[in-house]
Amino acid sequence: MAEQSRLARLLSQRILVADGAMGTMLQDAGLEPGTPPEVWNRDRPEAVSAVHAAYLRAGADLLVANTFTATRLQLERHGLADKVAELNRLGVELARMEAGPERLVFGDMTSTGALLEPFGTLSFAEARDAYAEQAEALAAGGPDAILIETMMDVNEGRAAIQGVHDATDLPVICTFSFQKGGRTVMGAGPAEVAQLWQEGLAAIGANCGHNLQDTLAVVEELRRLLPEATLMAKPNAGVPVLGEDGRTHFDVDPEPMGAFSVRFLDAGARIIGACCGSTPDHIAAIARAARAYPSSGGTNV
Ligand SMILES: [Zn+2]
Repeated sequence: MAEQSRLARLLSQRILVADGAMGTMLQDAGLEPGTPPEVWNRDRPEAVSAVHAAYLRAGADLLVANTFTATRLQLERHGLADKVAELNRLGVELARMEAGPERLVFGDMTSTGALLEPFGTLSFAEARDAYAEQAEALAAGGPDAILIETMMDVNEGRAAIQGVHDATDLPVICTFSFQKGGRTVMGAGPAEVAQLWQEGLAAIGANCGHNLQDTLAVVEELRRLLPEATLMAKPNAGVPVLGEDGRTHFDVDPEPMGAFSVRFLDAGARIIGACCGSTPDHIAAIARAARAYPSSGGTNV
């Protein structure tokens, strides 16, 4: 792009606070498990907007659109293959309506849920095309960037990044989900993930994952491997535990989450948010920590 993106400009000015979980918030609002959350962009837009608004009130600088599982490959499992364009565009538009022109909106995508060759039957070209189609639909809603998150397979990550580049000029961010021991479910470690930086990314990092400590170790390793890269961290609010009420909750409360977020900033993260199990209270605690962080508004970026 000829001119600097809004994302790049804001990153040069301060730490950016991302939002928290969407899926678990919508389930609390009545979304049935098994229903693609993106359907609510059309059928219950006020519920999606309410989650966005709550994260903005908590201090988020950027909203991630409710489009996480909306490639054709995912939607066709629910008989919604013809809704790729509509559900993705609506998701970005809902986030933009809340964020306004000043705060950022990321279109969101993740693993297709199908295994790429040689582990499965999905070819690299088919995956890349599916991501390009979703990226084009997201771009129609006017996002500031595309976030590819909770990735596990480096090859699929590469297909996603290339697909977005095929379809748009938007900045692309890619984060992987690391399990215990600092490897993804598909066995990729930070060294393999770091190779994707060469594909043309605005930021790279870790989201979701096993727990805060293990995700922090990965971010520290990415900093060592990629000293020049902009890093993003969006960890889960700890690990899921089954409560006595039969519901799953996550074991890190907002205040400890905010305190721990400083360690991600120390490791070099410039975009910090939270993933599964997080709430607006978690984001409020993270935002307070980020605003108080020495380099948060300074010029020593
Ligand atoms: Zn997560």
